[in-house]
Amino acid sequence: MLPRVRSAQLYEEAQQHIVGGVNSPSRSFKAVGGGAPVFMQRAEGAHFWDVDGNKYIDYLAAFGPIITGHAHPHVTEAIVRAAQNGVLYGTATELEIVLARKLKEAIPSLDKVRFVNSGTEAVMTTIRVARAATKRTKIIKFAGCYHGHSDLVLVAAGSGPSTLGIPDSAGIPISIASEVITVPFNDTDRLKLALERWGDDVAAVLVEPIVGNFGMVMPKPGFLEDVCRLARGAGALVIYDEVITAFRFHYGTTQTFAAFPDRAAIEPDLTALGKIIGGGLPIGAYGGRREVMAQVAPLGPAYQAGTMAGNPASVAAGIACLDVLAAPGVYEKMDAQAAHLAAGLAESASRRGVPLTINRIVGAFSTHFCDHPVTNYEEAQDTDGEQFARFFREMLERGIYLAPSKYEAWFLTTAHTDADIDATLEAADASFKAMAG
Ligand code: PLP
Repeated sequence: MLPRVRSAQLYEEAQQHIVGGVNSPSRSFKAVGGGAPVFMQRAEGAHFWDVDGNKYIDYLAAFGPIITGHAHPHVTEAIVRAAQNGVLYGTATELEIVLARKLKEAIPSLDKVRFVNSGTEAVMTTIRVARAATKRTKIIKFAGCYHGHSDLVLVAAGSGPSTLGIPDSAGIPISIASEVITVPFNDTDRLKLALERWGDDVAAVLVEPIVGNFGMVMPKPGFLEDVCRLARGAGALVIYDEVITAFRFHYGTTQTFAAFPDRAAIEPDLTALGKIIGGGLPIGAYGGRREVMAQVAPLGPAYQAGTMAGNPASVAAGIACLDVLAAPGVYEKMDAQAAHLAAGLAESASRRGVPLTINRIVGAFSTHFCDHPVTNYEEAQDTDGEQFARFFREMLERGIYLAPSKYEAWFLTTAHTDADIDATLEAADASFKAMAG
């Protein structure tokens, strides 16, 4: 057993002061057998060191943003420079234009963007804008997709709530929940039925175009085209939540991903962004077509504001992170390493008799303890959570840090080395052996 005495002490103390001892429920170990989560002290590249001095290879990447690895020198330098120049002005700055330009260059569906502080805010505001633009109130979302913790989208909301057995959060009035229609991901017929029934009231169809919140799940061929065609046929807008997917698989979003050659057929009206675009500092952004974004104050009647929005530190970190990702070969390396890792995990699990389905998209993948494909939320739920918890613990003991939830992905970063991958495969084989034995 790795000694984690100090983590246990800090957890005791944290619980006295911080609700549940954590500042986001997804950081707790409730879904993987409970007990003290690991308290980290330092991180560099693809590695963590905890408060007891244990070292881990990190596949959490802070739930996604840390794609260049921890403390990447270029990103760190940008943050230090921003701090030296003052971290918050409450005025316009030139840096905001630089990041907005970079986003627009990479994501052609954005005529205009607005920076906010989190993915939650970004999605929440796209819904408001869609409602303002259509003068309708209802939203269609897909079961298991997580869109942050604003009221409207916490219905059947995927990884975080599902991990903790909270399919729908308390504290949300029925009047709000009744504005949300949930249909299964990858199910065109059910979407069509929902639009036939409620279409005239639907402001937007909101989707993670590639799902990252009940594992990594690709849309079936034609599904995104169907979403866009059916939504528009009903006079609704299409909102893509690309908070996880933007700059994850290539320098762009799902909308520009080579897997979807007919870009025009899958282009959304509004896009929500977050995570990677802030290089590890708090950020979100939303954007879309000029006439839709014209709804937003000060141009239009839909109000949205933020004291911290577009702050120089987050924006500078985001620009630096995108610089790193724009270098040639970055995604190819993560792809090759993730392919090697996923193939090795599959081989090892199969040799040890542990059923495992792996969904991989470039440098991100999910491991589902089951012997069936995972293409929607129901199939992701129908996997062995206890096996996952056991695997998580076995890996942790061997210095591999995974997200503490069967629904979350493994993220490669530009900092992972081939030696990290080999060490992970060795740990996984020993873990599967322990599980089988
Ligand atoms: N949308 C998606 C797809 C997410 O995965 C998340 C967070 O995991 C969010 C929105 C919310 O982002 P944030 O945690 O920055 O509020």
